Amino acid sequence: MTNIYSHNYAKELDEQDELKVFRNEFYINPDKIYLDGNSLGLLSKQAEKAVYTIMEAWKSVAIDGWTQGNQPWFHLSEHIGEKMAPLVGANSDEVIATGSTTTNLHQLVASFYKPEESRTKILADALNFPSDIYALKSQLQLRGYDTKKHLVQVESDNGHVLKEEDIIAAMTEEVALIVLPSVLYRSGQILDMEKLTVEAHARGIMIGFDLCHSIGAIPHALHDWGVDFAFWCNYKHLNGGPGSVGGLFVHKKHFGEQPGLAGWFSSEKEKQFDMDHDLTPAPHAGAYQIGTPHVLSAAPLLGSLDLFEEAGITKIREKSVALTSYLLQLLDHELSGYGFIVRSPKLAKNRGAHVFIEHQEAARICKALKASGVVPDFRAPNGIRLAPVSLYNSFSDVWHTVQNLKKIMDEKTYKNYSNKRGVVA
Ligand SMILES: *Cc1c(COP(=O)(O)O)cnc(C)c1O
Repeated sequence: MTNIYSHNYAKELDEQDELKVFRNEFYINPDKIYLDGNSLGLLSKQAEKAVYTIMEAWKSVAIDGWTQGNQPWFHLSEHIGEKMAPLVGANSDEVIATGSTTTNLHQLVASFYKPEESRTKILADALNFPSDIYALKSQLQLRGYDTKKHLVQVESDNGHVLKEEDIIAAMTEEVALIVLPSVLYRSGQILDMEKLTVEAHARGIMIGFDLCHSIGAIPHALHDWGVDFAFWCNYKHLNGGPGSVGGLFVHKKHFGEQPGLAGWFSSEKEKQFDMDHDLTPAPHAGAYQIGTPHVLSAAPLLGSLDLFEEAGITKIREKSVALTSYLLQLLDHELSGYGFIVRSPKLAKNRGAHVFIEHQEAARICKALKASGVVPDFRAPNGIRLAPVSLYNSFSDVWHTVQNLKKIMDEKTYKNYSNKRGVVA
């Protein structure tokens, strides 16, 4: 039996890893261990190739690229939507590639927030990413509501995880709409989307989820759960590249309604070029597009999504659970007593694809870790996110990370850095 804390054990796990071949599909700096795929996923050869294919069409056929070639741009958003649909558990026409997380949230709130009489509040949580909260507040302001009274944010007992019971208890008769993350961006907690949807609907409330930290990392069944809408970015686990086009889901039961923010790309495709001043919205999620798709920043997804289809989200999730469980096990064994506190849920079923730890000296520990060749993610004031990604990270990566961290703590090399964050952290 190999000692489970030895490097050999990590190598054995790598040998047995069914997804190990996918690592070769990515551009990996051999001198680095990249654990920041939940902020910006790595470039794959397929994604790169897909960009060149689109560029080639622009180069050779120009305007006709909208309708010709193997990937006509006019249908690109729908086509990518179809490719994303299995990852969120949706029908192909319930998903569209468009906008960004924040603009999609604006669109969906503009469409599905329908305050009436005493039911005027939006329910969110106190731990979500600021952009989502800014969007919700500005949507309330646009309708003339006081955000202090109309945005209800469910608090966390410990500042890291939320309790579904607390969220359900806040689903009062005054709530018109609920917007929550699927996986919390700091602690990595997975919220029970199915349960929350059932409870919201039992109270006549619409509910939508931000899937930024879950798409490409965990399976979803949005259609079967009856979720009203969802939105996400594609540059994290989906490896679509910096600023790549986002995605959204609208449940079929809402098809045929007018989008809150309309534009000519909201149109039914056959009618779009009639240039009519009355919009006929597309009879599917495509209706929530606004203007011309950002073709070049959607292109990488064409290639990237092929890898997800090949690997399968079930296998990706299995490996991810094994990686984060292994990381937690090593942290516990090698680094207890060094002042680290694990804030991610201990139970794998409640944990997304990253691990969140806190330390008083986190900012400079991150800098020392980066100098040692490991790329982590710092979250102010004292958090470190580590995301071992199924498609391109190995168990050896995890092992080396913990060893580097231990060395930094033992030799106190983090003291060579200032404990302040950089501009982008
Ligand atoms: C990454 C992330 C965003 C980013 O929004 P953009 O519009 O893509 O810049 C928003 N919300 C959450 C929860 C995120 O994790």
